[in-house]
Amino acid sequence: MLEWNLQYNFATIVICILMLVWYFHQKKIPLNSYAFFFRFNVSILACTIIESVGVLLYRNEIIGEFGFNVVMAAYSFMACLISVIYAFFVFEYMHVSDKNKKVLKGILLVVLFLTMLIDIATPFTKVGFYFYGRKYAVGKLGALYALLSGISVITGIAVVIVKRKLIPASRVYILISSILFSSIMFVVQLRFTVSILCFGFGIVCLTLYNYIFNPALYIDNLTQLYNKDCMRDYLEYRLERNKLFSIVLVAMDDFKYINKTFGVDTGDSLLVQVGNYLRGIEGVDVVFGYGSDQFAAICNKKSLEDIKSITEALQARLKHPWYSESQAAVMMSATICCFECPKDADNYGNLIEIMDYAMSMTKKSNKGGVSLAGELDLSKMRSEKEIEKAIKLAIDRGELMVYYQPIFSVEKNLYNSAEALVRLNDEKLGWISPEVFIPIAEKNGLIIALGDQVLRSVCKFICDNKLSESSIEYIEVNISPVQLQQPDYYKKAIGILEEYDVKPTQINIEITETANMVGSSDIFNENIKKIVDYGITLSLDDYGSGYSNLDYINHMPFHIIKIDKYIVWDAFKNIKAGITLDYTIRMLNALQYMIVAEGVETKEQKDHLAKIGCHYMQGWYYSKAVAPDEFMEVIKKAS
Ligand code: C2E
Ligand code: MG
Ligand code: MG
Repeated sequence: MLEWNLQYNFATIVICILMLVWYFHQKKIPLNSYAFFFRFNVSILACTIIESVGVLLYRNEIIGEFGFNVVMAAYSFMACLISVIYAFFVFEYMHVSDKNKKVLKGILLVVLFLTMLIDIATPFTKVGFYFYGRKYAVGKLGALYALLSGISVITGIAVVIVKRKLIPASRVYILISSILFSSIMFVVQLRFTVSILCFGFGIVCLTLYNYIFNPALYIDNLTQLYNKDCMRDYLEYRLERNKLFSIVLVAMDDFKYINKTFGVDTGDSLLVQVGNYLRGIEGVDVVFGYGSDQFAAICNKKSLEDIKSITEALQARLKHPWYSESQAAVMMSATICCFECPKDADNYGNLIEIMDYAMSMTKKSNKGGVSLAGELDLSKMRSEKEIEKAIKLAIDRGELMVYYQPIFSVEKNLYNSAEALVRLNDEKLGWISPEVFIPIAEKNGLIIALGDQVLRSVCKFICDNKLSESSIEYIEVNISPVQLQQPDYYKKAIGILEEYDVKPTQINIEITETANMVGSSDIFNENIKKIVDYGITLSLDDYGSGYSNLDYINHMPFHIIKIDKYIVWDAFKNIKAGITLDYTIRMLNALQYMIVAEGVETKEQKDHLAKIGCHYMQGWYYSKAVAPDEFMEVIKKAS
């Protein structure tokens, strides 16, 4: 009689039952692809049971050859169904568009139907396969049969490969290796008549559970709310459907203060309470934890009136205290922003940008209140995004330009240095001022790549034009505090200088005094120290315009102080400002700093500034910032 080995099947049954217990025991994940996990699991269990029962009945001669062939036809249909369910899951998980999904699903349903026809005919006609005695044989339509099973495998792999960019690479490998693994099990089962295909499916199911459906990946341990990853998958799916829904974004106000005052444990327990309260409000479908102290409640309700009832319920609750575990009463407030999708944003990336921007705007102007994204002015954000794209493009294409503005030495009566100023000319937006795009690049971190390109470009310029042989002793390069917050920035900067054989004395680094530099970090200080130790000098840019912290100039190793152009201009318009500038320059001279006056536009300004003790002049009176070639002409002419 048939020696079909059933040990693998028993193991599979245990695995499937265990996973079903987990499935029912844990909180459901509100993702469409998750539903396929259940279907996948149940069909594997059914398939394994059918096969095992068939083999046992046949082995014990309860059914004959025909009966066994009937059971195996049912089993083979189930196996095909499993691979189709897997492919359907892949379509959901990889966000295949509705239109394409319809076509692909249609093809696979036809495959399933044809398989079913062969399976029905097989016990009578032996067209697919048949068992006799201890043997197994492929029927006349065996090849077609194998081909049909291959279609869902190939479709699944193709979809994963085409849309691979949508998910992390590790998940691409999991999906493809799962499909290949079960295909290998299929071949092994056919070749060696060992019942291992279902076991293979079981292992795939376990792997998917572990890496893709594991609730721990989607549910925050503390609040038991769905996390940001889950929100992303959920919202992407909903936005693709293009059906109306709303989001009520709730950000707790001053939550850091609550954590500080009552302790992190109490803070956590209060967040859990707010999350639970939100979940319980009528009209809220699902709540996601978004950020450490923010929640996004999704509602299917369409009218703003409906949304109002939700925000009012929350605001009413916030008028009453919340209680810590030790029964301490804590009053909390929250800022609320409401969004209508897809009206306010039609893709996830946009939505997140708008959510963050609208919330920060509301926090500034209406903290503790409610705003509707549709009523906020989001044009600034949109134009910032355009500029961000332009910066990225220019960095990627190497299209950022560096212009040079000569700096005149009063003592030497010549141009002894220059400031490197970055320029961006976008094909769509035209010339964009660095005053506009540098702060944007600082906000999103693009300043790191931008700054590296500028420094590289300056070093190349010094090297290519043999500046050491001209009157230009050094080039001043603006470095953002954001760059100096990078660990080991100094190593990178020194590496660039060395690459072009530029001496440290040929570079001067300008830093603008900003709020976040006062009481600056260890990384910042370490970078400054290493840069100065290497021999690069430092300038304090825009002195007088910002914080002008005296403690700061006394404790940072600046060599040059650059007086901000607005301070210079003001000194010629306003007597008090003139006196202030006069005394400031005396003070800086007494402290033995070298002083650059920025924004020198007239002869009168230049004469006066030189008289009161400025060592260097920079401004349109001498030259604007010009392209490298033109700059070389300017200094040649002047010498
Ligand atoms: P900044 O470092 O204070 O640069 C001086 C700015 O004043 C430059 O503007 C320059 O063109 C302008 N300027 C110089 N002389 C005159 C004058 O006589 N009249 C007038 N009206 N303006 C004058 P720009 O090039 O628009 O740069 C603006 C700011 O952008 C810079 O201020 C600097 O903070 C930042 N920036 C420019 N390039 C870079 C860069 O490569 N990296 C970083 N991090 N920031 C940069
Ligand atoms: Mg500067
Ligand atoms: Mg300046």
